[in-house]
Amino acid sequence: LPGLKDKVAVVTGAGSGIGRAAAIALAKQGVKVCLLDLLNDRTEQVKQELTAMQAQTITVDVDVSDPLRVKQAIDTAAGTWGRLDVVFANAGINGVLAPIEDMKPEDWDHTLFVNLKGTFLCVKYAIPHMKQKGGSIIVTSSINGSRVFSNFGMSAYSTSKAGQIAFAKMAALELARYKIRVNALCPGSIKTHINQSTHPSPELEKVKIKVEYPEGNQPLEHGPGQPEQVADLVAFLASDASSHITGTEIFIDGAESLI
Ligand code: NAD
Repeated sequence: LPGLKDKVAVVTGAGSGIGRAAAIALAKQGVKVCLLDLLNDRTEQVKQELTAMQAQTITVDVDVSDPLRVKQAIDTAAGTWGRLDVVFANAGINGVLAPIEDMKPEDWDHTLFVNLKGTFLCVKYAIPHMKQKGGSIIVTSSINGSRVFSNFGMSAYSTSKAGQIAFAKMAALELARYKIRVNALCPGSIKTHINQSTHPSPELEKVKIKVEYPEGNQPLEHGPGQPEQVADLVAFLASDASSHITGTEIFIDGAESLI
């Protein structure tokens, strides 16, 4: 892909799923990748995978909702290689799933903090490093933030994902003057670990509202999509091949949102 070799990217949530696949896809294109995630062994494994590909990479352990740590991490990435061109703001959680009437305010806050505030912080602290040369910011939202509202108990998640789309569009508008493009991805169901870290509340179980992830519901795939399919889109949006695309929400869902 044009314009990616020797560029520098920060990928959040890089230890798993879509983030890991995107880090690998970018590294294949010659991008130097800062792998940002919560402290865990998986990020170190991804680092080893990238190193085995002869890619330059560093890891930074950060909670994306912590302003000070996010700033330090992004400064570290830009400082290591003297530039920053691509931010993939992808870290996210499903959070606690509960009916609205039973949702604990602190559980609501946690989902919004990680998914929405985390995105804001990564973009905010990347701007000083990107504003001279321009670049591309990609935000992982979801079809749940735009069109698909079928899962009971996911009000906080869907709200955070909708907020990410609005934020990406505002950022595209504000940052166009720096030649920084910003786009939101709306994946459908993708085969990753995210659903294993999800906690339906006892109240949700009690009202017997079944939380269904629509795996197997994608007309194109007859099952969930793969992280690598999203990663290819990330690499395209990071590259100069998408130089006129900004301020959009792009569905990548095998037509799941249409059924
Ligand atoms: P995943 O659980 O495999 O990966 C998410 C990564 O984010 C993990 O490595 C986790 O440690 C990290 N993370 C979580 N909280 C963090 C925090 N506070 N700070 C830093 N890192 C943190 O899940 P995934 O499916 O690859 O999810 C990536 C993104 O894709 C999320 O934003 C998710 O909402 C979105 N998404 C996923 C699907 C799906 O079906 N998998 C669908 C639509 C959107």
